[in-house]
Amino acid sequence: MLTMTHYVNGEHTAASTRSQEIFEPATGECRGQVSLASRDEVSAAIAIAKSAFDTWSQVTPLNRARVLFKFKALVEQHMDELARLITLEHGKVLDDARGELIRGLEVVEFACGIPHLLKGEHTEQVGGGVDAWSVNQALGVVAGIAPFNFPVMVPMWMFPIAIACGNTFIMKPSEKDPSAVMRIAELLTEAGLPAGVFNVVNGDKEAVDTLLSHEDIQAVSFVGSTPIAEYIYSTASKHGKRVQALGGAKNHMLLMPDADLDQAVSALMGAAYGSAGERCMAISVVLAVGDVGDKLVDKLLPQIQQLKVGNGLTPEMEMGPLISRQHLAKVTEFVDAGIQEGATLVVDGRQLTVADHQQGYFLGACLFDNVTPEMRIYREEIFGPVLSIVRVKDYASALALINQHEFGNGTAIFTQSGEAARHFCHHVQVGMVGVNVPIPVPMAFHSFGGWKRSLFGPLHMHGPDGVRFYTKRKAITARWPVGKQTQAEFVMPTMK
Ligand code: NAD
Repeated sequence: MLTMTHYVNGEHTAASTRSQEIFEPATGECRGQVSLASRDEVSAAIAIAKSAFDTWSQVTPLNRARVLFKFKALVEQHMDELARLITLEHGKVLDDARGELIRGLEVVEFACGIPHLLKGEHTEQVGGGVDAWSVNQALGVVAGIAPFNFPVMVPMWMFPIAIACGNTFIMKPSEKDPSAVMRIAELLTEAGLPAGVFNVVNGDKEAVDTLLSHEDIQAVSFVGSTPIAEYIYSTASKHGKRVQALGGAKNHMLLMPDADLDQAVSALMGAAYGSAGERCMAISVVLAVGDVGDKLVDKLLPQIQQLKVGNGLTPEMEMGPLISRQHLAKVTEFVDAGIQEGATLVVDGRQLTVADHQQGYFLGACLFDNVTPEMRIYREEIFGPVLSIVRVKDYASALALINQHEFGNGTAIFTQSGEAARHFCHHVQVGMVGVNVPIPVPMAFHSFGGWKRSLFGPLHMHGPDGVRFYTKRKAITARWPVGKQTQAEFVMPTMK
């Protein structure tokens, strides 16, 4: 049985007093225990990271980047092993786990350019014999708190840029699937990262609350559900920290009657059911405009019926289980609620059984038609393989629905009309927008983030915003008045 502790100062620590079971969602079997750090254990890790900051922040950006280059090569070398760990504890299929690793590595590649990214601005001669410039300096010890659904990619949205900028890092992974990020910590050490620069503390609310309130934590990056994101944002802000807290989602696809329906249906299958719908950028609602709804259902049905659901370690599978027994029960309750509220359940995934995996947390793909905006299945994030079709009379009503929704993470329009697409991009109140692209996750050199109750804080994650988040700017004005007489000035200084 696995015993997962913490990774602090370049080594695994002893087990904590409290722990929690880790399960394999495909089989429902317990695979081991993860330690839950106490306040004292987290504080000890922060003290180590604080001490490591003194030297790491003085390493040149070029040499910090060189560690990340080696780390990238090591992750590539261990790609299959890491993907297998993700699949074992999360459940997503192996190719999807590899995809997650590649998207995470793209942030590492971006962070390898840190010598360029950290450059400040310089103006010669802002006044007679006076020059001015700005520099971007590291903050100190920063913390990251991650959700279960991307056990490696989300941590990689955070730590590569943070440590490239010269900060030291405390990572708090999801207690449901911590193994892959623990392996990542070992690979960082193998790449030459000094002890104490990247630390992992496993834990629950006690560990998180310590990070939010500890005086030596300068900034907190969080990704998870909206109620917890709001809590993180308000608590850490109250303690004077810089915070970015990314929350939940309800992503709509606006399907225009002129869209290429075959392309839209293929896109929808992956976007709605990939990773069993446990993606913050999953499409969970289709707004079918005009008469496109009937044709959409006809084309979707056979594809849903052919979806291969099973253990993600089996190569041909397309969709794996949900993360936990509790989450399976929650998603199933949503399906029950949809029926009670009067939506038409066109495909019912509740009866699915997977051979030899009777204890696994499987739910087959579900499709609801005739969903209306008052229903819970429309309003709330389900985070499972449940797709809702809402029929709308025209484009304007569809756009209004998206803009009225409390979440604003991602959205997509499928159309062949440039005019409609342009209007949509300009007017939609959502942070990430796709045009005939179902999951418009920005590349690493852009920044990722939603609007409304999908993100709390001014800065998005990774890309240029990542560098801004993990640095503070200093502006310097200098002159070297050799042999000149200077006099006291009692008015606001102006450049002469
Ligand atoms: P979660 O909010 O339950 O947990 C996220 C993290 O918060 C975990 O590390 C957990 O240990 C910690 N946590 C949980 N309860 C806490 C509490 N009461 N106090 C302090 N810390 C607490 O989220 P999850 O179920 O792991 O992940 C799924 C959610 O994450 C979904 O809502 C999904 O939309 C969201 N998500 C959002 C994005 C995004 O980019 N916006 C990306 C991925 C996931």
